[in-house]
Amino acid sequence: MPQIVAKFNSSKSSACWRECGEQVTTRIHIFWEGLILVPYWTNVFGFINKHFQVNLPRDPLVAILGVKTDLIKSEKTRYLLQILLVAAKKNITMKWLQRRPPTLDERLYGQ
Ligand SMILES: [Zn+2]
Repeated sequence: MPQIVAKFNSSKSSACWRECGEQVTTRIHIFWEGLILVPYWTNVFGFINKHFQVNLPRDPLVAILGVKTDLIKSEKTRYLLQILLVAAKKNITMKWLQRRPPTLDERLYGQ
């Protein structure tokens, strides 16, 4: 995270490496609230809600921490949801330094 790197190395900037204008970049910015990630997470939640036939809120508690998933009654489906959320977060880290958002297709279909 830029904020952490800048804390230990004063020559490094704490600004977002995706050049969105954020000057103090936190972990939540990198994984959730960065502007390039808004359409990505919207797509992830659209995919989950469509295929699981639920209405999970687009919420960092669900996406990042994996809590508030009790809307899904089946234990197996909740487990699958956890796997999908881990894959969605992994997709962000795989495109870590890029200025374009990851897409669902890259993770789900290996493109
Ligand atoms: Zn940013």
